[in-house]
Amino acid sequence: MAIRQIRVQGDDVLTKVCRPVKEITPRIATLIEDMVDTMYEYDGVGLAAPQVGVLRRIAVIDVGDGPIVLVNPEVLETSGSQTGEEGCLSLPGKSGQVTRPNYAKVHAFNENMEEYEVEGEELLARALLHEIDHLDGHMYTEKVEGNLHDVNYEEEEA
Ligand SMILES: [Zn+2]
Repeated sequence: MAIRQIRVQGDDVLTKVCRPVKEITPRIATLIEDMVDTMYEYDGVGLAAPQVGVLRRIAVIDVGDGPIVLVNPEVLETSGSQTGEEGCLSLPGKSGQVTRPNYAKVHAFNENMEEYEVEGEELLARALLHEIDHLDGHMYTEKVEGNLHDVNYEEEEA
């Protein structure tokens, strides 16, 4: 298990378009394992490769149903609308209100380069779209309505 350092907003790596993965090399396999470990270590719902400084089209998500590995994900379909609080491990301690589709269907490959589709509503749709945005160099702050605010962790724990 290896925890990678998370890049924070202001780091150029978060603004770049990531390259597709052609094959799962040992290096990519280790990266995926480390990304899952890092997501859990920091209690994130998702993590994209550029957030650990790697410009590859890889993201991991866990909305409470186990880890989802997304290699070369592409959005096939979205519908509806949801507005809610969003945060990002690359902007610790902050959150803001973002409107996104309520449903998303995504085509991707898993850690064995097997094709699959994942679809979800609400938090899963939000996580899928948030992480895929990272792969094109976009942060949720570009979509925030109103101001970012501080997350009060103490209050959440109480
Ligand atoms: Zn993020």
